[in-house]
Amino acid sequence: MNHIIKYPETHPLTWRLDTINKNPIWINEYHKKNGYSALKFMLNNMTPKDVINLVKDSELRGRGGAGFYTGIKWSLMPKKNNIPRYLLCNADEMEPGTYKDRLLLEQLPHQLLEGMIISGFAIEATMAYIFLRGEYISAENNLKKAIIEAENCGYLGRNILGSDFTFKIVLHTGAGRYICGEETALINSLEGKRANPRIKPPFPAIVGLWGKPTCVNNVETLSNIPAIVLNGSNWYKKISLSKDRGTKLMGFSGRVNNPGVWEVPFGISARELLEDYAKGMKKGFRLKAWQPGGAGTDFLTEKNLDVKMDFDSISKVGSRFGTGIAMAVDHTVNIVSLVLNLEKFFSRESCGLCTPCREGLPWIVKILQSFEDGFAQNEDINILEDLCVQLGPGKTVCAHAPGAMEPLQSAIKLFRSEFEQCIRKNSFSNIEMINKKNM
Ligand code: NAD
Repeated sequence: MNHIIKYPETHPLTWRLDTINKNPIWINEYHKKNGYSALKFMLNNMTPKDVINLVKDSELRGRGGAGFYTGIKWSLMPKKNNIPRYLLCNADEMEPGTYKDRLLLEQLPHQLLEGMIISGFAIEATMAYIFLRGEYISAENNLKKAIIEAENCGYLGRNILGSDFTFKIVLHTGAGRYICGEETALINSLEGKRANPRIKPPFPAIVGLWGKPTCVNNVETLSNIPAIVLNGSNWYKKISLSKDRGTKLMGFSGRVNNPGVWEVPFGISARELLEDYAKGMKKGFRLKAWQPGGAGTDFLTEKNLDVKMDFDSISKVGSRFGTGIAMAVDHTVNIVSLVLNLEKFFSRESCGLCTPCREGLPWIVKILQSFEDGFAQNEDINILEDLCVQLGPGKTVCAHAPGAMEPLQSAIKLFRSEFEQCIRKNSFSNIEMINKKNM
């Protein structure tokens, strides 16, 4: 297959952005910038199997946080029969500190739609849903308009561009639950049920929406598909500096000079991301710790800044790449208070299905609050460590509680003295306080 190299290698995902006015790229502009030519190329030259093989060859990994290989996920769907199958775009971006999909949804809606139409063709689905975070109002408006534009041009609907491929996209907005980003909770929510995760396996690829084979892919993952179809898997594989292929939207937030999100090749170092893109820490603030990809990833420190930003490299230094949107913690932040804040969030967002998560997270919040209030005892650190195991991997239906344990366990490991200081600093004055209360 001869592919036409039309995408700039440095930023195939974001090169169409209107970087000056930040306006969304509507259909005319998208057409001018090569838009929907991947779809046309595919309809004229490829079978669904070709597309799956191409994406498999490209080694594209899911961009929602888990990094599962997209082509493999697609190929695990059962062989086409008369049973309907669905494509779901997970646009319920709610990871604290992560705002990468928002950029693609608000400003490049057609790129996502084109990626979805091609992906739907590959998995032989005729129906797709975008499950959008309810608070992303601009994204909702822009997607609605883009869907109508695409329908009017014959890219969506019956017999797309005269082919025998029929495909429809429905936009659904969530009601503000973090757990809906978990793919099986998302499926339950879409079916009108309470958003509790389902036990996996069976994976949605086999038993998904309405019990039918369903592929759930993240916004950024799907937005990569048009460039791969037009340029080919070899091209895609080369545009990274590490084993993980392609580029990735990465970012930094916290007390940095230039917080933001940028398209960079996998494998740049965290130091480059912090110093060259985020322009370093603000004057007067030193980096104390950082989380590579969301609130549910282990803290790393300054010592780890030379790590490559990719799935395996970050795992090797004891954290997770996650969403790739890093958060900097500066030296003025009390780690106990920060972790308390994060655990309050995770506790509030637990769906309540599994006992360790439902009961354990509020208990952790109470213990951490007692550290902050000065009532904690020495053994409370051991209890917290024990809870990290009790709520860790394999104890619950989904990854919510294990994810919540990552910042806690790493904070205790890296900053144990701060937990101990909380106990020492407060024990005397609090005994006085209790005595006064009892008088
Ligand atoms: P997972 O590893 O269980 O699954 C990843 C994907 O691969 C899923 O789509 C799953 O269905 C598929 N899969 C895995 N094994 C399969 C198999 N054998 N057959 C078919 N499909 C298979 O991870 P998860 O629980 O879906 O996601 C956890 C991740 O979500 C975390 O890494 C976290 O970083 C991320 N996260 C992201 C956000 C966000 O806003 N982007 C929010 C919370 C969590």
